This record gives sequence, C-alpha cells and structure tokens, in this order.
Amino acid sequence: MFWSKKKQSESTEKDKGREKRNLGRKIAELFSRSGSLDEFYEELEEMLIAGDMGGAVTMEIVDELQTRVRKGKIKDKESILEELRGILRENLKTLELTSPAQGLSLYLVLGVNGVGKTTSIAKMARYFQTRQGKKVVFAAGDTFRAAAIEQLKIQGERTGCRVIAQSHGADPGAVIFDAIDSARSRGENLILADTAGRMHNRKNLVNELKKIDKIVDSRLGNQGEYRKILVMDATTGQNGLQQAEVFHEAVDIDGVILSKYDATARGGLVVSISRKLGIPVAFVGHGEALDDLSVFDPDAYLDDLLSTDS
Ligand code: GDP
Repeated sequence: MFWSKKKQSESTEKDKGREKRNLGRKIAELFSRSGSLDEFYEELEEMLIAGDMGGAVTMEIVDELQTRVRKGKIKDKESILEELRGILRENLKTLELTSPAQGLSLYLVLGVNGVGKTTSIAKMARYFQTRQGKKVVFAAGDTFRAAAIEQLKIQGERTGCRVIAQSHGADPGAVIFDAIDSARSRGENLILADTAGRMHNRKNLVNELKKIDKIVDSRLGNQGEYRKILVMDATTGQNGLQQAEVFHEAVDIDGVILSKYDATARGGLVVSISRKLGIPVAFVGHGEALDDLSVFDPDAYLDDLLSTDS
C-alpha cells in the first residue's frame, strides 16, 4: 500500500485492492498484446475510466500522452508509461495542514452523510495530537441529525477530545461560534468542526454552510489556520465528484480527505479531483482505526497505481 511500507507486508485483504488497482500491470499487459497504437490508446482510455478518472479527464490525459509520445518519438513501453506517470503527477496537488503553533486553527469538515466525516475527524485528531502535540477539540456542527452529535461524542471519548455541542436542531453557526470562544479561552489549538451532510434541500445546506463560513472568518482571527476540508468516499467514484462540486460552490473547499481508499480497487478519483476541480488532497483514509490516515504523497500514490509488480 502506498501509505506505509509496513502495511504492505501485513495486509492480505487490502493487497487484493492493490492488485486490482494495479493499473501499471494492466498497461504492461496491454503493451504485450499485438495491435495498433490507436487500439492501445483506446484500451488505455477504457482502463483509466474504469479506474475512476472520469471520462473528460481521461480523454484529456490520453490526448496529452499521444502528443508527447509523438513529439518525443517515444517507442518503448517503459518510456510511454513514464510519460503517463509524468502527466498524472503534474495533475496531483497536495494540501499541507500545518495547524500553526500560534493562535487557534479550525478545520471545517464537510461531506455528505456516510462518507466517513466523523471517522476522519477522529483520525485527524489523533494525527494532530500525536504528530504535532496539539490540543484538539470537536465542534458538533451537524445539528440536523441527533445521531451525528452522539457519534461525535463517541469519537471524542475515543480520542480524548472535548466535544462542544448543543442540542439537536440548534443553530450550527452558534455551536461553532461558541466553540471558537470556548477553545480560545482554554488555550486549545485546533477545532475540528463537523457539519451537516444533508438538510431538507440543497439550498438550505448551501446557505447554512455559507453562514458558518462567514462566522468562522469573522470570529477565528488570523493567527491560526482556517481550512475547509471535504471528505470524499473513494468508493463512490465519479458521483463523489458531483458532490464535491456542490460543496465547492458553497464554500470554496481548500482540500480533500479521500476516505475508504482501502475499500476500493480504483484509485483514479484523486486525479479527477485535482484536475477537474483544482482541489488538492490533504489526507487519505485507509481503514477504520485511528491511525489509518496518511498525508497524501503523490509519488507514493503513483508508485502504487502504476506498479507493474504482480
Ligand atoms: P459520516 O456519516 O460521514 O460521519 O461517516 P462515518 O464517519 O460514520 O463513516 C461511515 C462508515 O464508513 C463507518 O462504518 C466507518 O467506519 C467507515 N469508514 C470511514 N472511513 C473509512 C476508511 O478509511 N476505510 C474504511 N474501510 N471504512 C471507513
């Protein structure tokens, strides 16, 4: 697995996903078949689409590959694969969440229900607690579902984080406003704020998120870091991209956490998020345990995606 060498030898179930994801090997097989270059590009397109890169993005990438191969008079398969890797690499963007030592930071965590928002909040808390020694608190901004508040409290207990919550149906903006004041007065460093993934309709959701965004902007101060992070479920494929567009339109997403990467054989969503929406990837989630979160490393990701190992 690309997130950790140690995991590679441990995992059996997860390796299955990797084998299926092994685009490099499939491309190598494609080279070994006889056929015209046109047929090769057609099949390559099919593979990339099946790997979740999306139709439009795939076409652009393969067009670019054809142009580069032609211009560079490239003939051997390793070089074509390298060229493809280069194009994909240029499309991958990363977001580093630094959560500065000074001031109070807030990461607003967005995404539709079930994508792994609450789990990702807990995993991020663990990450910032252990890697950066931060005092992390949670704000229960999804007041639309009573269960969401309860779930966040469970994750608070699991990670030792204080949870700032009001009752079901409370104004989410007020919860987050209080969380900022309360965390500041206690000298805590980082608020991870949950938000609703669904409301009565899309307009309500968008308006609510815009309102929260304004409150954070005006209340947080500028010493810390304010980031809007969208959790995307790697198993939802291109539907995830449409969801992302709704959230991006509402609040200008700064970065993505790609959850459930362990549960999919297709890894191309990362490329289409970066290329189509221009949103960088901060973390990849690869399991349900608190440590199953890694900073997104594009080179390691491409090693995994394009590996020709069998
Ligand atoms: P929320 O509704 O967006 O808050 O989603 P949850 O955090 O409750 O997660 C929904 C389900 O996905 C739960 O069963 C989680 O354990 C599971 N989940 C979350 N992240 C991951 C991940 O990275 N890998 C796997 N395999 N499951 C995950």
